[in-house]
Amino acid sequence: MTPTSTVNRAVDVAVAAPIDKTLSYAVPAGMVAELCIGSRVRVPLGRRQVIGYVMAWSETVSDKLKPVLAVVDPHPLFHEQHAIFYRRAAEYYAYPIGAAIKTALPAGLSGLNSGPSVLTDKVYRSTGRDDLPAGARQQDVLAYIATAGEARLSLLRKQFSTPHAVLQRLLELGFLTVEEVESCRDPFVDVAIVEHFPVELNPAQDQAVTQINAFLAESDSFHPVLLHGVTGSGKTEVYLRSIAATLDQGRQALMLVPEIALTPQLVTRFRSWFQDRAVRLAVLHSGLSDGERYDAWRQVARGDIDVVIGARSAIFAPLPDLGLIVVDEEHDGSYKQSEAFRYNARDLALLRGKMAQAVVILGSATPALTTWYRAKEGHLTYLELPDRTAERPLPAVQLVDLAQSETESLLSEPLVLALTETFAAGEQALLLLNRRGYAPFLLCHDCGATVHCPNCEITLTYSQVQRSLRCHYCDYRIRPPESCARCNGVRILPEGGGTERLEEDIRLLLPEARVARMDRDTTSRKGAHSRLIDQMNAGEIDVLIGTQMIAKGHDFPAVTLVGVLNADSALNLPDFRSAERVYSLLSQVAGRAGRGDRLGRVLIQTYAPDNYALDFVTGHDYTGFAKVELDQRKALAYPPFGYLVNLVLSGNDEAKVQQIAEQLALELESLSTETELLGPAPCLLSRLRNKHRRQILLKSERREPLRRQIVMLGRLRKKIPAGVNLTVDVDPLDMF
Ligand code: ADP
Ligand code: ZN
Repeated sequence: MTPTSTVNRAVDVAVAAPIDKTLSYAVPAGMVAELCIGSRVRVPLGRRQVIGYVMAWSETVSDKLKPVLAVVDPHPLFHEQHAIFYRRAAEYYAYPIGAAIKTALPAGLSGLNSGPSVLTDKVYRSTGRDDLPAGARQQDVLAYIATAGEARLSLLRKQFSTPHAVLQRLLELGFLTVEEVESCRDPFVDVAIVEHFPVELNPAQDQAVTQINAFLAESDSFHPVLLHGVTGSGKTEVYLRSIAATLDQGRQALMLVPEIALTPQLVTRFRSWFQDRAVRLAVLHSGLSDGERYDAWRQVARGDIDVVIGARSAIFAPLPDLGLIVVDEEHDGSYKQSEAFRYNARDLALLRGKMAQAVVILGSATPALTTWYRAKEGHLTYLELPDRTAERPLPAVQLVDLAQSETESLLSEPLVLALTETFAAGEQALLLLNRRGYAPFLLCHDCGATVHCPNCEITLTYSQVQRSLRCHYCDYRIRPPESCARCNGVRILPEGGGTERLEEDIRLLLPEARVARMDRDTTSRKGAHSRLIDQMNAGEIDVLIGTQMIAKGHDFPAVTLVGVLNADSALNLPDFRSAERVYSLLSQVAGRAGRGDRLGRVLIQTYAPDNYALDFVTGHDYTGFAKVELDQRKALAYPPFGYLVNLVLSGNDEAKVQQIAEQLALELESLSTETELLGPAPCLLSRLRNKHRRQILLKSERREPLRRQIVMLGRLRKKIPAGVNLTVDVDPLDMF
């Protein structure tokens, strides 16, 4: 260890622990050369040693500082600009900086070890000697390498059996040189490249591309854009051209997609589109192995990647010269992380784009009302694709009033008829039922009792396939009871319908049809979701049943019928966004119909046929819906007219949770007259995994007073006793 007297530099380190601030550590003189911003380091914290991330060189150097113990990675994981971005993101969401970075980085990098191993390979090159070695095998191998210019060991192993001894001999004789290089696991080896037919842009697409190109040409300013294009209007084509233009400028592009399962299809489309150009592409998402993610991350940080495609967490990818961020389906709720570091990748895209002076394209057929409003107010440039490509019409949407329907089945008569016709015509149908399992609960028909989760305030979902009753929150499972625990009655029957029961109904209705189901139960295994999509595209499925997963971004040209089984279940949620969610989900799923050469139609079953949201879905009238909805929000100062922060207190002891919640509410209330405080009240899920939950909602027409309260929370948090946990959700989406 270097003596302290020679230490003349220090660094700010974000440690992977729940601490709001960065900490200063001294850098031993011998370490100065290998340590940089973005390095992972081992540092002392109290009596422990923890991993930390170097955020900045520090001004304050004092003798009292503890030293950095070791630098973990040979190369930094991010650069200074990213350190600043991570810090601002963590501050905004009131989350400890080190813990936030831990979330941002590939998994497997927070332990004290060095994380996934770096794979190495060897490159052999010919020295160009003009004589030949004696052995025939030596001559073969040498000829192969000389022709290719150079060759990797991994490749030579595939071409020649046991080439080691031969290569060794050629090295000794001076015919070859060798160099050790890093090798990267390639997750795309199996991704097919299909033939790509260039399309001619329609006028609206052309206008959008022209405008975006003009913004890209001004490479020193931030340009946020809302690309509002109806389903099937060719938004992806606009993204691809914008990405190409960004690369032409020598900058890099980042594209976020909401669903991991969509990436293989997108990667295929991407690679096919760019097949004539050498574009270095990386995909970042949680479906990769730790090793694959680590490899991709390091390549990105080195500047060896031109385009990153990824789910939510890819917003943290350390691209050094970012020129464009695309957020596809920007309204999608999966951009918001729903636990721990509760960031919204769409909102962070705007922050990052501003810091990087990049163009940010938020694309959607049903923009979030907050985004739409900001565009209307002139904070984003509004670009519209009002029509489907190739003059295809949007599908006709019809509501079916379930109150008038006489059947016991989940399917109304008009939907039965439409399904039968569609199948007879050899076309595909999609059915949306936003509920997993066979039935949402079992009901005793003698005493009316239902079976509840012992840990959560919710009924257990019945699955016939798994012969179980199960809690979708804590995963508690039991066998379905033979008799009622309350009255001993034996008439315990499934009540309501889920995707399993719908599948059964369809098999009865259309015994010849090939039926498949897409929900969390059938897609939990790696690749299962993607396989279903491929089968749909190959025409191997006639009817696809699913939860909201089936609504997302798919382009199945042979689908002509879309059916929605329970449009109103989500309308009844006590949440100011419920109408927006229903509008968006139904428009998106309706948008899956008629994307090919044949006309599409949509049937929506509902008990609330005169609900205004459904009315606007029928008319494909986003603007009309937005106007009505925004008027209501304005009256109540809900987003986009106000800002929210949701605080949830939870713990095993209900009385204690309530008491702390009341105390906290009082203190917060005394801090500001400009924020409105609602609660404390029991959360909609008042008990979850055995924890009692209370919420306090802070609401204000300006962000400033809320920010001050959040800062104060940092201090108030220290007064919260053990056994009660506080979570802070800035700009919450779900408030359960
Ligand atoms: P969106 O993302 O807006 O839902 P896509 O980009 O998936 O729509 O485009 C829908 C379909 O239209 C795709 O099959 C795409 O190849 C095709 N397409 C896109 N632009 C054009 C165009 N200008 N002319 C003809 N077809 C197009
Ligand atoms: Zn439970």
